[in-house]
Amino acid sequence: MRKKRIIVLGAGLAGLSAAWHLQKKGIACQVFEKESEVGGLCRSKNIDGFTFDYSGHLLHFKHDYAFNLIKNLLGNNLIEHKRSAWIYSTGAYTPYPFQANLHGLPAQIAKECLLGFIDASKNGKVKDKKELTFLDWINHTFGSGIARHFMIPYNTKFWTVAPEELTCEWLDGFIPVPSLKEVIEGTLEESKRQFGYNAHFWYPKKGGISEVALALSGQIKNIYTDCEVTEINLKVKEIRLKSGSREKFDYLISTLPLPEIPHLIKGLPARISPGFRKLRWNSIFNFNLGIEKKDGSGRHWAYFPQEGLPFFRIGFAHNFSAFLAPAGKSSLYVEVSYSEEKPLDKKNITAHIMQELNKVGILNQSDKICVSDVNDIKYGYPLYDKNHNSAQETATQYLRQNNIIPCGRYGSWRYMSMEDSILGGRETVKQLKL
Ligand SMILES: Cc1cc2nc3c(=O)[nH]c(=O)nc-3n(C[C@H](O)[C@H](O)[C@H](O)COP(=O)(O)OP(=O)(O)OC[C@H]3O[C@@H](n4cnc5c(N)ncnc54)[C@H](O)[C@@H]3O)c2cc1C
Repeated sequence: MRKKRIIVLGAGLAGLSAAWHLQKKGIACQVFEKESEVGGLCRSKNIDGFTFDYSGHLLHFKHDYAFNLIKNLLGNNLIEHKRSAWIYSTGAYTPYPFQANLHGLPAQIAKECLLGFIDASKNGKVKDKKELTFLDWINHTFGSGIARHFMIPYNTKFWTVAPEELTCEWLDGFIPVPSLKEVIEGTLEESKRQFGYNAHFWYPKKGGISEVALALSGQIKNIYTDCEVTEINLKVKEIRLKSGSREKFDYLISTLPLPEIPHLIKGLPARISPGFRKLRWNSIFNFNLGIEKKDGSGRHWAYFPQEGLPFFRIGFAHNFSAFLAPAGKSSLYVEVSYSEEKPLDKKNITAHIMQELNKVGILNQSDKICVSDVNDIKYGYPLYDKNHNSAQETATQYLRQNNIIPCGRYGSWRYMSMEDSILGGRETVKQLKL
């Protein structure tokens, strides 16, 4: 029997993982990547001695399998960190998460948040999150004070749409919910507890986050970079590359963003197109800075819920690894969210960011900037609104019926971490009927 021809589209973590797991089983495949290097969002660049990722990328593990895989790939080049994360609100920095660290906020705000939480704690646990909007869940779980002072402004800024437009499907484990006792303790004094899935994280000692993708790709044969797929022909089961060459397939594992698929498949049936058009997302404008200044704070990142500030998060990359900045210097990654609903003034955004970095005490007028760099990430976070599930299902079902297996965060259009994307690649291979 003829061997099945398997093509993987995209050499981000999901595509690399799919190819790695196929080849580990002795099944050949080809990987086509449009960029000149592998990694997708899990890439890093070195500019004048500063290593910048495509915005902050930290490893969190829920599954031993993924941890062991990466540990085996990186060996001693993987370091565990205890999170130092902060929230800038009402002119003060308090520890993350806001809801468990009301101590340090102005007394009136802390009181409003605590009383609201006490009220909300009488609501009991949500029985079925499917019935609630994200706004309902926030109010039900945290009460009106925490909702007003952090959850609503931060999430509106991050998602670029109001929380009542969102469902709760993506939530699982992402937002820590402390007990009433923990909230009271965190109001009376600085909490010593760590909360949430990212209380610890891992990061390569040297080389930036791209080390993960590079180590994986080093064990994979037949990866072709600078090979953009420009057309998928379902009739003859063939892809066309930008160079004009064509490749036949039996199965395509696609990690390409779902909203791009209608541009690639000719003659998409009229009943299928609307599903793809309903998919929504936010985009991330990532501004990286290398600074001629030492930073001994040890902080890893901070959240900025305030509406007037353009950024929602700032990270301090040199604190993930001293090798990310030259000795005696430091670096920042700044993240700004935008979308069709909330467009970004790209001409003026970096000047605006610089001005506000001074206001929030992260830069001084006298600080010398050594390098700056921008990554404009079109597909940031798939947005979970009321149409997400039906649109995602229609789109992915159609692809599967045509031997295209959607994979990864953007291929399957789900809120996935690096770990999830790696596991997604493995799962896709398990599902292939060869
Ligand atoms: C701002 C931001 C911060 C994040 N931070 C974290 C974090 O801290 N921790 C964490 O675990 N996860 C984080 N993530 C999530 C993480 O980046 C993803 O889960 C993971 O990298 C997705 O991998 P992927 O392979 O599915 O997609 P991608 O990395 O996007 O890979 C898809 C690949 O397909 C290629 N491609 C696209 N079109 C074509 C074409 N036509 N032809 C050929 N190739 C094509 C792309 O160039 C790309 O290489 C973050 C995501 C964002 C946006």
